[in-house]
Amino acid sequence: MTTKLVLVFAIFCLLVTVGFTLDPIELRRLGFEGHLSVDPSDLKAASSDFGGVNTAEPVAVLFPASAEDIAKLVKAAYESAQGFSVSARGHGHSTNGQAQTANGVVVQMSGSRGSRVGSGKPALPKVSEKLMFVDVWGGELWIDVLTSTLEHGLAPKSWTDYLYLSVGGTLSNAGISGQAFNYGPQISNVYELDVVTGKGELLTCSGELNPELFHAVLGGLGQFGIITRVRIALEPAPQRVRWIRVLYSNFSAFTHDQEYLISLSGQPATGKFDYIEGSVIVDEGLINNWRSSFFSPRNPVKISSVTVDGGFLYSLEITKNYNQSNADTIDQEVEDLLKKLNFIPAKIFTTDLSYVDFLDRVHKNELKLRSKGLWEVPHPWLNLFVPKSRIADFDNGVFKGILGKKTSGPILIYPMNKNKWNDRNSVVTPNEEVFYVVSFLRSALENGGEAQKLEYLTNQNRLILRFCYEARINIKQYLPHYTTQQEWMDHFGDKWAQFQQSKMEFDPRRILATGQQIFKPSF
Ligand code: FAD
Repeated sequence: MTTKLVLVFAIFCLLVTVGFTLDPIELRRLGFEGHLSVDPSDLKAASSDFGGVNTAEPVAVLFPASAEDIAKLVKAAYESAQGFSVSARGHGHSTNGQAQTANGVVVQMSGSRGSRVGSGKPALPKVSEKLMFVDVWGGELWIDVLTSTLEHGLAPKSWTDYLYLSVGGTLSNAGISGQAFNYGPQISNVYELDVVTGKGELLTCSGELNPELFHAVLGGLGQFGIITRVRIALEPAPQRVRWIRVLYSNFSAFTHDQEYLISLSGQPATGKFDYIEGSVIVDEGLINNWRSSFFSPRNPVKISSVTVDGGFLYSLEITKNYNQSNADTIDQEVEDLLKKLNFIPAKIFTTDLSYVDFLDRVHKNELKLRSKGLWEVPHPWLNLFVPKSRIADFDNGVFKGILGKKTSGPILIYPMNKNKWNDRNSVVTPNEEVFYVVSFLRSALENGGEAQKLEYLTNQNRLILRFCYEARINIKQYLPHYTTQQEWMDHFGDKWAQFQQSKMEFDPRRILATGQQIFKPSF
């Protein structure tokens, strides 16, 4: 009898769950200050991302006018009998559907009126010149953060290569670029957050106040709360940038110099570069790519103009910031630093530009690619952190092995100092003092050659991951993408227990950011 009852109850629950459809009209009764949209064009936009591979359509899209709007929505999801998922969407620049959710609500953070924050609260962005920070809305784009802080002669310290990303979106990962060796990732450069947890509570957190929530959210892949306000550290903004590239044909000379340069992070500003990146050049054609307009398209540098063994080149990319006040010493400072490096002689390429033009360098190329219809194509990106001790094996097995001679997009490689990363934050990195970021930023073209097709590139990504696994190179994925909980447990390793505990505490119904596919919702 008891078994029968249990069975009937289970079937009833199943029917309720399967039959449940979220009703946007009911949701509107919550009285949002912003706008809850079911407009097909809004639903379509929220269903896609930069990756161009995954789609999932939400039931509605909330354009919040305040953090309180988001709190109302999440609280309703948390308290409703059936429950429904809520996913913050920064600027939709994920590549594997991480900001999407089917049958739930997407909160469109970028471009929403939330940047002005709810009634009676001070407008954002708000700069404190005295304490050198800016408070911004979680959906603010980095380009707009820069514009607002420059009005005060200040700028954030740590960047991403591309500025049309949302603050909440990059902080949910880490936010890295060539400044990270010096300042750490963007998650190492924030003082305070306002967060709507998966229970619908709006909490302020920092290293001292609610520190568990603060550290869980930083690099937390959107699992513990929706970031609505961020206090970002600032520094005086430099005026100009000397931007330099030098070439190497020898991988160990290249990595030796990169590691030497990042080891100078503790030196005074005059004794080190401000930005250190690098890339692998295996394509036969131009030493140029969409990421930067460094080399003029009218005057491309050809690999054939450089003598190389096996057709592989590595480009070290470095910058030095300066102001009018020290313009007369910049040449000497750069020369002194370059003297210590072992690049191919006579292959120094230099350009000089404003700080803003340097930081916003990728956008110019975005516009060019958009005009040719080459921006909105599938992007099967793969980003890895590779331990320093195995980077030469990675070069042999992947760059000189799996890749062949076609890359279909930029491949970045540059080292990081682990001591600039706070281990209490959720993001995971290899267990070595120095590790490399290796980014395969590729675009798939269906009418291109075989090696440019999505299937080919996706398969190559699989081969790269399998190679690392078989060669026991303990990589960690950056902007990770897994589909089973076991893979996520392996990814987080020692941090999994804490990650899971924080989930139980801050999002017990597993409502948030379901597109990451880490936890199954409880409904
Ligand atoms: P989305 O893709 O919209 O969201 C990403 C995840 O964060 C989702 O799970 C979402 O639910 C969650 N999320 C979004 N907003 C919030 C919020 N306010 N609170 C809590 N969770 C939130 N990354 C780097 O580190 N360095 C780079 O140089 C870099 N360059 C890039 C260049 C391009 C052209 C592109 C497309 C991406 C680049 N990225 C880079 C990756 C980028 O950091 C990620 O795509 C990141 O997710 C930011 O994108 P987004 O703001 O559009 O977030």
